[in-house]
Amino acid sequence: MVDNGNATKSISIESYGIKNATVKYQLTSEQLHEETLQKNQGKEANTGALAVNTGEFTGRSPKDRFIVKDDITKDRVWWGNINIPFEPDAFDALYNRITDYLSGKELYVRDSYACADPNYRLNIRVITEYPWSNMFAYNMFLRPEEEELKGFSPEWLVVNAPGFMAVPDRDGTRQHNFAILNFTKKIAIIGGTGYTGEIKKGIFSALNFILPVFKNTLPMHCSANVGEDGETAIFFGLSGTGKTTLSADPDRRLIGDDEHGWTAENTVFNFEGGCYAKVINLTEENEPDIYRAIKPGAILENVIMDEKGEVDFADISITQNTRVSYPIYHIDNIQVPSIGTNPKNIFFLTADAFGVLPPISKLTPGQAAYHFISGYTAKVAGTEAGITEPVPSFSACFGAPFMPLHPTEYAEMLSKKMKDAGVHVWLVNTGWTGGPYGVGTRMKLKYTRAMITAALNGSLEAANKDNYHVHSIFGVHQPRTCPNVPTDVLSPRQTWKNDEGYYKTAHKLANSFKENFKKFEEFANAEILAGGPLV
Ligand code: ATP
Ligand code: MN
Repeated sequence: MVDNGNATKSISIESYGIKNATVKYQLTSEQLHEETLQKNQGKEANTGALAVNTGEFTGRSPKDRFIVKDDITKDRVWWGNINIPFEPDAFDALYNRITDYLSGKELYVRDSYACADPNYRLNIRVITEYPWSNMFAYNMFLRPEEEELKGFSPEWLVVNAPGFMAVPDRDGTRQHNFAILNFTKKIAIIGGTGYTGEIKKGIFSALNFILPVFKNTLPMHCSANVGEDGETAIFFGLSGTGKTTLSADPDRRLIGDDEHGWTAENTVFNFEGGCYAKVINLTEENEPDIYRAIKPGAILENVIMDEKGEVDFADISITQNTRVSYPIYHIDNIQVPSIGTNPKNIFFLTADAFGVLPPISKLTPGQAAYHFISGYTAKVAGTEAGITEPVPSFSACFGAPFMPLHPTEYAEMLSKKMKDAGVHVWLVNTGWTGGPYGVGTRMKLKYTRAMITAALNGSLEAANKDNYHVHSIFGVHQPRTCPNVPTDVLSPRQTWKNDEGYYKTAHKLANSFKENFKKFEEFANAEILAGGPLV
């Protein structure tokens, strides 16, 4: 039986080795929502959004991500514990098992693409075991027009089988779940995990290899938006630092919230067709655009709802990583298509739980390269005794888990592009103020937004021209005043009201930066090395 949804063609997936499956091709978002409810795999929230539990995994599993070591990848990929090699034969055997597992089942097949710029478009066919995973692909990838589907030729294949459990001894995986990329076959297989983020980050990882190696384009883990003046801004940052939150700005058109390419033709394009926002403690007052995007078509993940379908965004009993995915058109002010020009401003977002880094500071080109390679944020580790302390976390290019090449390859491309484009680079601490985690508080979102607005409209530069304070430990240029932000907030030392404690912690963090950077020193020139902490 073939159910075409509202598409005019049907397809067979026998050639992939999946036999006798009931193929549900290109179902609409509404149909997938309904199928999910009928299969008892989800519930409807009172907003009309679908709510699902992703199961055992509520986040990605970086230790179970592999890349097949073949002729294309063997000499180019930076192998190690981020890019873990997988044997081609082992891939073939596992692929056969996963397709055997899917044979005879009812499956959801969707044709979609990545990369909003037609010159870089990557056609993708996604085969999923569950309807909501397919709806996630509808939300997050770009959606071909009906007309385009007729001649659609898929280049990459994503096979998603959360119910398939690998056997490590037999399959060569670490445990029962895995996400494996094969560049020769152009296939991504995901098994043993229902976490939807693996689907989008699998294709992101593939593009992070394909674009720099074959298309002279820099792939970036960043969000992007464009102002009324047509100027593009991009926001790099690790998970939870504010890419999605800060790019949703009612006064600027959203290009995308997570993955972009910067081409040699001076354009910036979104890889995706949707957003994947964190919803922990979400409120309409703080994040109206995201809040209002939660309507029919959106998929909430791992949230807690009452009998009436009312979501409690403060409830993190399943995970802190509660999420919602939605197609980008759920946001009012968007750029269509999702393409901008050379960025004028670049923001590096960091959630510094030590409360040491200034809430906003300006970086020199050397500092920009240093901070990009470092990719700093902080995690807050809890202990059973209730003692919590921040742990520095460095992830090169603000996205090491998705970067198949050596970080310095991306850093060199970015440095060159930043210089050619003459961009302003800002380091924004969306983390703690008034002391470290446990003592201080998270920076108020409205202040961070005001600082970014001031940087974008030039008023920060105008107010501080030749009067920035150079941070004595990090050497970054800290503005003394900023419109709509209390002056004392701009100086982290002043917010601590404890100079000794501040400098002690600042030195500690500076040492962590230096320790982490050692492995990159041999690749860095004098300008970049001078961009590190001064002490
Ligand atoms: P990911 O890569 O996992 O998608 P992200 O960089 O997009 O992560 P966000 O989804 O934007 O991160 O998460 C930022 C979180 O921090 C949100 O829950 C937001 O409400 C919260 N937050 C609190 N204070 C701030 C602030 N000052 N600036 C930015 N975000 C803040
Ligand atoms: Mn995000």
